[in-house]
Order: sequence, then C-alpha cells, then structure tokens
Amino acid sequence: MIDYQAILSEIYSNVKQESDKGEIASYIPELSRVNPEHFGMHLKLISGEEFAVGDSDIGFSIQSISKVLTLALAMSKIGTHIWDRVDVEPSGNPFNHLSLLELEEGIPRNPLINSGAIVIADILVSELENPKADFLKYVQNITGDSTIAYNLKVAKSEKETGYTNYAAANLLKSFNNLNNSVEDVLDFYFHQCSLEMCCSQLSKAFFLFANKGHCLAHVARLTKSQAKRINAIMLTCGFYDEAGEFAFEVGLPGKSGVGGGITALLPNEFTISVWAPGLNERGNSKLGMQALEQFTTLTNQSIF
Ligand code: GLU
Repeated sequence: MIDYQAILSEIYSNVKQESDKGEIASYIPELSRVNPEHFGMHLKLISGEEFAVGDSDIGFSIQSISKVLTLALAMSKIGTHIWDRVDVEPSGNPFNHLSLLELEEGIPRNPLINSGAIVIADILVSELENPKADFLKYVQNITGDSTIAYNLKVAKSEKETGYTNYAAANLLKSFNNLNNSVEDVLDFYFHQCSLEMCCSQLSKAFFLFANKGHCLAHVARLTKSQAKRINAIMLTCGFYDEAGEFAFEVGLPGKSGVGGGITALLPNEFTISVWAPGLNERGNSKLGMQALEQFTTLTNQSIF
C-alpha cells in the first residue's frame, strides 16, 4: 500500500527548499500578478480517494490545459472529422510557433499547440449553440462543480496582447481552415484559456481521461478509444517542445499551461494536478515538473 500523503508531503518539503522557482509568464499582463511562492498538488485515485498538499484549492489560470478539454468536447461532437483539419504529430516547436503552420499549409501539427487549439475552438464555435456558456457548462459538469468560471480580466488582457494568436488565426483563415470569423474564434479561445480552476478541480475534470472516457459522475463523455487517443496526444504533444523530456522524467500523459499548472494521469489509476507559477525556459512549470518527476519516482508509478 503506497502512503500517498507521506509522498506528497515529502515532495512539498523538497520543492519548498528550491531557490530557483522559474519565471512567471508575463506576456499576458494579467498573469504576471500572481505570487510566485504558490505551490499546490492534488491526487485523485480512480478508487475515489484524494490527497493534497499546499495551495491545492486556490484557483489559477489554467491556460493551455483547457486545450485538452476543448478537444474532448469537439471529439464527442464530430469524432474523427477533427483529423481532416488538425494532425497528431508533436511540433518540436514552441506553442505559438507560426512557420510550420505556413509550411504545412494551414494544417496545425496537433490540437494542443495554439494553432491546433484555435481550429478546435472554431469547431466548437460552429457546433455549440452558445459556445462560451456551453463549454463552461461542460467543464462544470465533468468536474461536478458549478463554481468554475472564466476570469474575464485574464481573457481581456490576452485579447489586448494576443498578436501571435491573431496571426495564427489569420493564417488558418487564409488556408481555409477556419469557418468562423477570426474575432469570434479568438474570443472563444481567449475565454477557454482564462478558465480559473484549482488543482483539485483539475484532477476531477481530467478523471474521464484516466477512467476510459467516463467522468466522475460515471457518465460516458468519450468512448474508451477516444480517451486513449487523447492520452496519446497528451503524452506526445502536451508539453510544448519539452514533451520528450516530460515523458523521460515523469512518464505520464498530461498537459501544462503558462499559468504554471500541469495535470497528468495514469490510465485506470489516478489523475494528478500541480501548480507552481514559475516556468522553466520551455514554458512548463519548473517546480511542477520536478514535483511530478519525484512523484512517479517515489511511487514507482508511470505508464512505462
Ligand atoms: N492563452 C495562452 C496563449 O495562447 C496559452 C498559452 C499556454 O498556456 O500554453 O498564448
């Protein structure tokens, strides 16, 4: 029997001693206001048990972690048609890189980089009656928590400074891979990124990926095969141009965001979320990655 609480406490005291906590993302002005000292971690076992340390109940901007949730909803709406418009290869480039998109004629490398997520946002803007409200409801439902909300200040802050995302959306539009207007799609995209959630909510939201497509309330949100494919995409594409390093160090499918969050999972076993706002030079939470490396090493649990 693994003593998860003791392991989380050990990790907590290890990371608290680290003097280099990385750099807070400042390219979205509103994100730079976060206290770099925060650290929280939450583990949810498939059996139902939960363990936590630190600031696991403080909400933060989930940013790109939302890309997995929009992908899941889009997959449940249009299934494999997604793959006519987005590929499933790692990009080996930063999340907002544009040159590959131009070279590959408007087909983004995968749905977890910005251009791919913007195509997924376009699909949801077409498929949902009230896109922002319906997506929020979906996240609330799979998490079982109606308090989850967009942070409108963060969405506005990104809208005012999101030049690279405007460039990506315009490029997609020029290659006929965007059906709705750039404004409508990016408005949705900036809102999905602004979702504010804490570690414990994220572990619950990602439960369906560890549980063969069934969310916490035991409702099938994805088929088993769709959950499997999303996990594969997380493993190969979930960590910007550091997906290889994350697989090597941690060995779990997951997704990070520039708000400093990471959610990862071991199919049929657990979901785990960590938040430490300081990022490494590749844009992943510095202490978050260290914490997850220690977790899979100390528990000897990973997909490998
Ligand atoms: N909203 C952010 C952007 O598009 C998300 C970045 C991230 O978390 O990777 O720049």
